[in-house]
Amino acid sequence: MKRHIKYIVVHSTATFDPKVSQYYGDFHYVVERSGEIKRIQPETTVVKNVAAADNEAIHIAYAGGRNKAGNLGDTRTPVQEEALYNKLIALTLKYPSVRIVGHNEFEASSGCPGFNVKDWLRAYEPEITIA
Ligand SMILES: [Zn+2]
Repeated sequence: MKRHIKYIVVHSTATFDPKVSQYYGDFHYVVERSGEIKRIQPETTVVKNVAAADNEAIHIAYAGGRNKAGNLGDTRTPVQEEALYNKLIALTLKYPSVRIVGHNEFEASSGCPGFNVKDWLRAYEPEITIA
């Protein structure tokens, strides 16, 4: 069934050790530290993650978001950052009226995704790769 998508919600998986297998079921997509994008759930599926937005949201997470000491923060690798950015751009082309928001914009106490999504999107300059 076609859904009305209003939000793309950016998350981290809130995990540290990439070698430990992670549960990704709370997301539609996960961007691995290598930049590989894994499709976890079809976009047509409602994924329960942020109750206020789930019915109209696509949830995308980068793997990480927790440092060695266990604190939440931005742990993205450069290729992961670029892959996340490219995926967000692709999704905005598919859903032109969508808003890209951080999980922390719905739940400030979540500490997720560990950075300010709006500031990042405003400032980010992707590498131009000529194939
Ligand atoms: Zn989150």
